[in-house]
Amino acid sequence: MLDIAVIIVAAGRGLRAGGAVPKQWVPLAGISSVARSIATFQDHPAISRILLVVHPDDLARTKGLAAEIVIGGAERYLSVQAGLAALADTPPDLVLIHDAARPALTGRVISDVIAALDDYPAAAPGLPVSDSLWRGPDGVVSALEDRTALYRAQTPQGFHFRALQKAYESSETAATDDVAIARAAGLNVKIVPGDPANIKITTPEDFARVERALGADMDIRIGNGFDVHAFEPGDHVVLCGVKVPHDRSLKGHSDADVGMHAITDALYGAMAEGDIGRHFPPSEARWKDADSAVFLRHATALVAEKAFTISNIDLTLICERPKITPHAKAMIENLAKLTGLGADRISVKATTTEERGFTGRGEGIAALASVVLVRK
Ligand code: MG
Repeated sequence: MLDIAVIIVAAGRGLRAGGAVPKQWVPLAGISSVARSIATFQDHPAISRILLVVHPDDLARTKGLAAEIVIGGAERYLSVQAGLAALADTPPDLVLIHDAARPALTGRVISDVIAALDDYPAAAPGLPVSDSLWRGPDGVVSALEDRTALYRAQTPQGFHFRALQKAYESSETAATDDVAIARAAGLNVKIVPGDPANIKITTPEDFARVERALGADMDIRIGNGFDVHAFEPGDHVVLCGVKVPHDRSLKGHSDADVGMHAITDALYGAMAEGDIGRHFPPSEARWKDADSAVFLRHATALVAEKAFTISNIDLTLICERPKITPHAKAMIENLAKLTGLGADRISVKATTTEERGFTGRGEGIAALASVVLVRK
């Protein structure tokens, strides 16, 4: 098995990203870009050594990190040189060099770089340029550049250790990029597919982009709702806005739509916004015999106002009769219309209680709803 080492370059001061803490040390959903990079390499089965090159001022930040710590230089190439020197006594077969400011790296990219080193002395991930490229020296387009065969460079960049060591020894330029140094020494560099999520944090806006790429900005709320209405004399019930013929009706201040009430309460619950009774007090006569769609529309509008979207709704109606299944499709369609959700995100199902309890004795209908909200 090949001995593969990684040098994670983290000595930069990250001034371009703003803030007092260098960008690679800023927590992204609680974990710094440096720690995330180390964890990704640690999880990769082919990696045997991880070196972290840091600025002397950041030494205290390295406590508890699972990497060998090396003090870097003022320029990136000096930091890489320091890493290579630290490996020189027990040289690995391959070395990967990664920018610590790319926290969303995946194992797939690492594997592709390593695999390409079977046939090439150097390999690096790149993304084909898809935007048009303009030359605009004074902020005015003077020429359209040909983007054919152009790539945006990413890291980790991988090398046969001895070859890169020699390239650095013979390098006379202060190149910003290891690929440039390798090429100057005559090494062929294979391009492997990069990953759009493998962003390099450069500007303050990049933190939000990376958090999105990591899925770390997800704000998910779950809500449940439960409701019961008793039967009274009548000839139909209203469930999720659908009139279902029955030998009794449901008793209530409004139209007694127990299913829609449970869903509405679940939405309010997910937002910690109380329940229907708080928004539509039964003491107010104007809600007498109200169409429960009014309640659901209000809750749905509040969801949008608070910048959430409803991910899905799951409703269980509990009764012996009437039979729900023949009407479930119409109920789902009505709920889809009221909430703006696709029908594939709404479930209406039913169960009996095996003739036990108040629903089993046919005294009323109960409803249980769950919803999930996701912050936009
Ligand atoms: Mg109710």
